Amino acid sequence: MTTPTTSVLIIYTGGTIGMTQNPETGALEPFDFSHLLDNVPELRRLGFSISTIQFDPIIDSSETEPTQWAKLVRMIADNYDKYDGFVVLHGTDTMAYTASAVSFMLENLGKPVIFTGSQLPIGMLRTDGKENLITAIEIAADKDENGHPRVPEVCICFENALMRGNRTSKVSSQFFNAFVSPNYPLLAHVGININYDDVEIHYPNDNKPLKPHFNMDNNVVVLKLFPGISRQAVHQALNIPGLKGVVLETFGSGNAPKYDWFLAELRDAVNRGIVIVNVTQCSSGSVQMGLYSTGNTLQGIGVISGYDSTTEAALAKLMFLFGHNKSYSEVVEAMSQSFVGEVSIKK
Ligand code: ASP
Repeated sequence: MTTPTTSVLIIYTGGTIGMTQNPETGALEPFDFSHLLDNVPELRRLGFSISTIQFDPIIDSSETEPTQWAKLVRMIADNYDKYDGFVVLHGTDTMAYTASAVSFMLENLGKPVIFTGSQLPIGMLRTDGKENLITAIEIAADKDENGHPRVPEVCICFENALMRGNRTSKVSSQFFNAFVSPNYPLLAHVGININYDDVEIHYPNDNKPLKPHFNMDNNVVVLKLFPGISRQAVHQALNIPGLKGVVLETFGSGNAPKYDWFLAELRDAVNRGIVIVNVTQCSSGSVQMGLYSTGNTLQGIGVISGYDSTTEAALAKLMFLFGHNKSYSEVVEAMSQSFVGEVSIKK
């Protein structure tokens, strides 16, 4: 028997993939992670050396906080040299937020960090968990002809798609293809073969050592506009004590009302040093603030463009930047650059 040369670390944080149904209440409850391996004996046939660790306690991802992101980054950093790739099993509910956050927190990443989970628990007959898990492990272990990692990025692998993590959003609470990457092509199509799209994958061009970051500042808020939003609602959101950044979900290509009171509230916030980032509440497309006068006015008062960023990525990036005590102008500058492929603008 040959000794496996490729090693993968699976980190189980929680979520449906590792759940079982309580026969009495019918509710989904977490079970011990060793059970997961029992349920997927196929893993042994992959021929990789697979190790597992898990959060203690494991969490439903709706209870994710920046401390858990830091914990995950710590686990990856501590094991970085020992493994060729990492698979993170995570609840689907906030997977896009965590994948976005971790993509900023793992600076100079040169190995695959593949998030996956499932819509049905892995112990259920029709589970999507097995396929997702096995595919994620294969991708985390994959190397090119020179022995370099095939996808050295933070990704989400779900159903038949491999996506850059900070480009994703969860779009379905029901269907197996629960995630989309609305503004960036898939990194790989998963079918009979795993077909990578090399041009879209980010490969580091220098060999800098991994630089893990642990500080995220949650003095941020998402403000979603809707027709009829009251001044009081806008005022309260923009006057949260300690607030540093706002992801403003606007209409279409970045449009918002031009009411005097609305612009006055935004102007006041900007003057107080709060960074306001304009992202669209459309499920795809980019903000173009110069296109309509409604967007142009926002630009005039200092609201900055989030381009084609998802809300999840814009929020995580603000938390990351404020977590590193960046000044107002540094954050504004950084938001107009792509750090790890989270927005479609030149570096
Ligand atoms: N509530 C679960 C979670 O996000 C749902 C899932 O895993 O799909 O942790």
